[in-house]
Amino acid sequence: MQLTKVKCPNYQIELKCPYSMNPTRIVVHNTYNDASAMAEISYMLGNSNEVSFHYAVDDYRIVQGIEENRNGWHAGDGSRGKGNREGIAIEICYSKSGGEKFIKAEQNAVELIVDILKRYGWGIEKVTKHQDYMDKYCPHRTLDMGWNRFLKMILDKLNNNSKTNKIEDTTGIITYKAYDGTWLPEVHKCDATDDGYAGRYGRAISGLKGKCEHGEIFIQSHILGAPNNEWLEPISSKDYNENHSNSYSGILNKSMDCTKIWSTVGWVKFRTHIKEKKDKNGNIIVRGRWLPWVDSRTKIGTESYAGIYGYEIDGIQMY
Ligand SMILES: [Zn+2]
Repeated sequence: MQLTKVKCPNYQIELKCPYSMNPTRIVVHNTYNDASAMAEISYMLGNSNEVSFHYAVDDYRIVQGIEENRNGWHAGDGSRGKGNREGIAIEICYSKSGGEKFIKAEQNAVELIVDILKRYGWGIEKVTKHQDYMDKYCPHRTLDMGWNRFLKMILDKLNNNSKTNKIEDTTGIITYKAYDGTWLPEVHKCDATDDGYAGRYGRAISGLKGKCEHGEIFIQSHILGAPNNEWLEPISSKDYNENHSNSYSGILNKSMDCTKIWSTVGWVKFRTHIKEKKDKNGNIIVRGRWLPWVDSRTKIGTESYAGIYGYEIDGIQMY
């Protein structure tokens, strides 16, 4: 895909891109016009309206008119809005009449978006639409054709690219199992089915081990009622196949209530299920439930581990 840069004239910087910017997102627009990307950028840079955007994309090229480290005026959320002050704006051309040219322009916009996501290390949640910032139906034709469809185009391209060159950055498939009086079967996936998590509802987990395809996984656990909220030493997946007490995290038959998991390659997402608890009359005093997902890249604070001190867990998922 060809990228053409057009320099914003110095006398227009005060009007078109006055602020320096650390971008945190992409804002997608449709031009609601039938002009080429070069025509859109030229017109935008030349007029005296407080309207500007970083890129225009048509059926055969990408044209950039504003640097990514300067702000644009496109989202309609004012001079302090996240859209205007932190968004990289992309206009997809030929949206008024649609047809082949627009279809191709959208595909080219996907290429540009994937390139931006990879350069900043962003996920799909960084792709936003003009409509997210104000009550305006933009990007109109992309919305007509389906926003989720558009996001899927981006995801497909992102995943294809990462399969070929980024495999070493991921843990690959994670295999894990839990002990609740006996070692339960290995789990190789993570979903809502019966074999999509480790554990059995109603039985407290006291041991946990895991391994991954690339690199090592570490697991660190906290035992229910441990004094001073002391955590056990972390264990490594290197010993996964061993039977000694360092091959798993936990102390068998002592319930654990919290766990932390991380990896040497890529990262891990994990969560725990709290065991339901009833009083002697059978009334539920602790509701059994899955807690929020934890990302191993969160290093400190209560969001860095899964579980709540004082509550037994009976299910664990990780991927
Ligand atoms: Zn727009």
